[in-house]
Amino acid sequence: MAEQFDVVVIGAGPAGYHAAIRAAQLGLKTACIDAALGKDGKPALGGTCLRVGCIPSKALLDSSRQYWNMGHLFGDHGISFKDARMDVGTMIGRKDKIVKQFTGGIEMLFKANKIKPFFGFGTLHKGNLVKVKQHDGSEVELTGTNVIIAAGSDSIELPFAKFDGDTIVDNVGALDFTEVPKRLAVIGAGVIGLELGSVWSRLGSEVVILEAMPEFLAAADAEVAKTAAREFKKQGLDIRLGAKVSKTDISGKGKKKEVVVSYTDGKGEQSLTVDKLLVAVGRRAATKGLLADDVGVKINDRGQIEVDEHCHTGVDGVWAVGDCVRGPMLAHKGFEEGIAVAELIAGLPGHVNFDTIPWVIYTEPEIAWVGKTEQQLKDEGVPYKAGSFPFAAVGRAVAMAEPAGFVKVLAHAETDLVLGLHLVGVNVSELVHEGVLTMEFKGSADDLARICHAHPTLSEAIHDAAMAVSKRAIHKAN
Ligand code: FAD
Ligand code: NAD
Repeated sequence: MAEQFDVVVIGAGPAGYHAAIRAAQLGLKTACIDAALGKDGKPALGGTCLRVGCIPSKALLDSSRQYWNMGHLFGDHGISFKDARMDVGTMIGRKDKIVKQFTGGIEMLFKANKIKPFFGFGTLHKGNLVKVKQHDGSEVELTGTNVIIAAGSDSIELPFAKFDGDTIVDNVGALDFTEVPKRLAVIGAGVIGLELGSVWSRLGSEVVILEAMPEFLAAADAEVAKTAAREFKKQGLDIRLGAKVSKTDISGKGKKKEVVVSYTDGKGEQSLTVDKLLVAVGRRAATKGLLADDVGVKINDRGQIEVDEHCHTGVDGVWAVGDCVRGPMLAHKGFEEGIAVAELIAGLPGHVNFDTIPWVIYTEPEIAWVGKTEQQLKDEGVPYKAGSFPFAAVGRAVAMAEPAGFVKVLAHAETDLVLGLHLVGVNVSELVHEGVLTMEFKGSADDLARICHAHPTLSEAIHDAAMAVSKRAIHKAN
């Protein structure tokens, strides 16, 4: 007989564990199923984000940043040293320890909230029945008055560059190289390509990033993308645009293994020989084996589970959240959807504001934005004013020897409401929330300009940029 729950969540990634914890907080009897295993072969909750995504990548970004700073920033402060060395094993070990701490943390949170975990692969059948194939081969059946699908996403594989877990890898492999590859190629100058390309480049790899599109970081503000591209070039990242990869050939054995990547660009046929190839061309909703034929949940032409604005699938009591549905593939977007659905199930007014989801790319300098870009406002015919301010004129940034980048505030030309905040520079991952808050509270550029910002802080760049919207910035000519 199937065990009955108020809520059964399939997937314990950011979207799923938020949904499960909020449902349990609201008094609903909740189960959460996850199929993933950690590096030690034991079940590991937390999804892509905690196991092989957000957290481990930031651990390596931080380690590699410290190493890079030794060679490129410490000198400015008068610090010298002899013989800096990076022990890759220690760096990866530190990352693994952080992953274990956080995946284990989810298990503890489940216990504290009385959520029943099931470790195995879940398939949804008609009537909200979920059959779970557990790791020991046994099967259990659960039914949920509500089922929340939070199955996440997997890396897209290219037919001519199949992952072998060693020479041609996705994020999972690139987070676990045992030594710094002398030559690393990356296919895709998106978020993963830039972040993981930066990690290994900072540690000494010659990194070439091949991007099919002619434009760099098309989703970001064009000026932000231009500034970031200039800084990445200075750091030695070789980003080649309009590069269409057609073939890869692996040759050699053991440490002598290499891969020839063939591509065409504006100049014709090209090839590149590297020791490792990271393929980072996007991710796809993980729906394989998830839905029995008779369920009625629809999959759209992008392979995502179809949902309405409330994450409802149209099948009674079946919801879907996170990377497996439309919208940006971001952990915090999944957090919000998971919480909103749990609240809707409990009869509360759950809601996600898709207009104020921030984006952050954790490169150096960092890139962050919320709201519309200038291009989007132009395309939509929205009249706007822009004010920008460079970090080179911000005392704190210069004191930190981190003057690269700028902040741009976009406001409606008539109402002055903030429509977008775009940043490139040091620690802008933290600063972007000033824009999120302003937009959530329907604030204006004038509101931002009149809010007292502590001196000396990086956030003063936002203050001056907001003042620049009405041509009254203090620390630059208007
Ligand atoms: P997932 O995290 O993918 O979790 C889904 C879980 O469901 C998995 O554990 C999976 O095993 C399980 N599952 C799937 N199907 C079944 C089934 N049928 N039965 C049982 N279990 C199942 N986002 C950010 O916001 N910030 C970042 O800095 C960031 N960095 C990233 C870095 C990398 C290298 C990568 C790859 C991604 C990064 N992301 C980042 C994206 C982020 O990881 C995802 O948006 C987020 O994890 C999606 O959450 P989710 O819960 O929808 O799915
Ligand atoms: P992405 O969509 O960010 O970038 C993929 C890039 O590959 C694009 O620029 C695309 O034009 C290019 N591309 C596609 N096919 C190609 C081909 N055949 N040859 C060359 N280039 C090609 O995808 P990603 O970097 O794989 O990341 C996946 C998702 O994970 C992202 O959408 C993002 O939401 C999430 N993520 C977020 C963060 C963060 O928030 N900091 C970090 C990492 C990943």
